[in-house]
Amino acid sequence: MSEYVASFDEAQEMVQREASHAGCMKAESRSLLDCAGRVLAEDLVADRDQPPFPRSARDGFAVRFAEAAAGANLTVVGLIRAGEVWSGAPLASGTAIEIMTGAPVPEGADAVVMVEHIEHPTPNQICLIAGRSVREGENIVPRGCEACAGEAVLGAGTVLGAAEIALAAACGRTTLTVFRKPKVAIVATGDELVELDAVPEPHQIRNSNSYALAALVAESGGEAVRLPIAPDRREAVEEAIRQAGECDLLLLSGGVSMGKYDLVEEVLLALGAEFFFTGVKMQPGKPVVFGRFAKSEAATAQYFFGLPGNPVSTQVTFHCFVAPLLRAMQGATVYGPQFAQATLGEDIAGKPGLMRVLPAWLRASRAKPEVKLVPWQGSGDLVSNAHANCYAVLPPDRERFAAGDVITVLLR
Ligand code: AMP
Ligand code: MG
Repeated sequence: MSEYVASFDEAQEMVQREASHAGCMKAESRSLLDCAGRVLAEDLVADRDQPPFPRSARDGFAVRFAEAAAGANLTVVGLIRAGEVWSGAPLASGTAIEIMTGAPVPEGADAVVMVEHIEHPTPNQICLIAGRSVREGENIVPRGCEACAGEAVLGAGTVLGAAEIALAAACGRTTLTVFRKPKVAIVATGDELVELDAVPEPHQIRNSNSYALAALVAESGGEAVRLPIAPDRREAVEEAIRQAGECDLLLLSGGVSMGKYDLVEEVLLALGAEFFFTGVKMQPGKPVVFGRFAKSEAATAQYFFGLPGNPVSTQVTFHCFVAPLLRAMQGATVYGPQFAQATLGEDIAGKPGLMRVLPAWLRASRAKPEVKLVPWQGSGDLVSNAHANCYAVLPPDRERFAAGDVITVLLR
């Protein structure tokens, strides 16, 4: 077969290209809270103006701004609480109405002076404290300024987090139409692997990758289908791939390096796979493969990834390549990976030729957010990886990075 080792950016582009025409899942209706983490399959439309009335943004006094600004003493003629409507006459000249945050501003008022900015010349009068000012419209959120009834406030393809769920709730939605979760088959390959209920012999390794991948799939909105471990035999790997046939995406771990028993690529090829790349110039993760099985005309192609078995490589390559495709398969219009920039907190050495994606800790300090590498023993080091909260992305064309340099990080 023809090998193709892509540069990191090229590999990203290939995944993005496939993602842009990865056939979409069917839509289904789900109750609002079940939609968190999923992708919206309809436009969410505001059922009424937001806010639905001119809303006071402060506890204070509804006034005619020109009078208050001129320093007039205004007589307080009433009080409006949130959830109430002013039933008296529109605000008359020389008067003010006390108002609470979230209450509808009465007709005739064109500003709300916050309570901290007034004083009482007499018990039932207010005036602006000297040195304070008030502008027209201050502390009033006009009706419909956030959205008008009938307007789409979220588009199909939006990933639904807490902010989007809140907006849907504000629009009165108890259910939403979302895209079906893609079924993702997970096959770990390796003679050394045992399942978690077995007592491993000293030379055996617990199959942690299937669990890492299942958790990552769930985080990315998919439904993980963990298949049994496939030993390093052609028939076993082939059987596992066949079992994954009903799934929308296939993830294999292990068996993609240059070893004598790394059989995954050749089995995929024998089963008619087409490869986009058979490696990426990155570390960890170099042996990663990406391709698809062409299906009959009726069915859409099934994509697959062969992820290197070293646990950090498995997870890094998932974040870089699998997560974006998986989100795109759910109809997401914006998909990762999520890169950001951060200031390096230490000097580090680069490695020419390979994009390095190394476990790192981004210190969440507002004043001085800073990223440092987590010391590690290489791509098998699950412990260091679990003590990282991001990956430092070091480009292949630099030998040295100094403390204070701004570098890219891959968020996870
Ligand atoms: P491979 O990619 O098959 O050459 O495996 C590389 C390294 O990753 C070996 O040390 C394996 O034991 C380890 N490894 C492979 N698969 C898994 C897995 N499912 N869980 C944990 N470690 C694994
Ligand atoms: Mg192996």
